[in-house]
Amino acid sequence: MKNWRVLEVENEIRRRVRNEWIEQTSDRFDADQAEATYVCECGDANCAESVSLTRAEYEAVRLDGSCFVVAVDHENPEIERVTLENGRFTIVQKMMAAGRKSQETNPRR
Ligand SMILES: [Zn+2]
Repeated sequence: MKNWRVLEVENEIRRRVRNEWIEQTSDRFDADQAEATYVCECGDANCAESVSLTRAEYEAVRLDGSCFVVAVDHENPEIERVTLENGRFTIVQKMMAAGRKSQETNPRR
């Protein structure tokens, strides 16, 4: 049976896929400097928060396959650590098994 940690990571991975799609869609509008609205990549299946990032900020998150962007205070210290926090969003890095799973499913590999 899947434990909650596995379910959380799977949620986050699904949201990352959605954000990749959002970024590709906004490509058409040549929106490099503008902030775009992405979905919070936290593990809560019911989370409906969105986060606002510029293209450059989003790309910086995607450089590391174990990093995700979440809304402020949506991090889960049991499976991830905060690497950056500003007023608009938090960047977290997955640890241990969660980190491995995130790397294995990285769409940018
Ligand atoms: Zn969230």
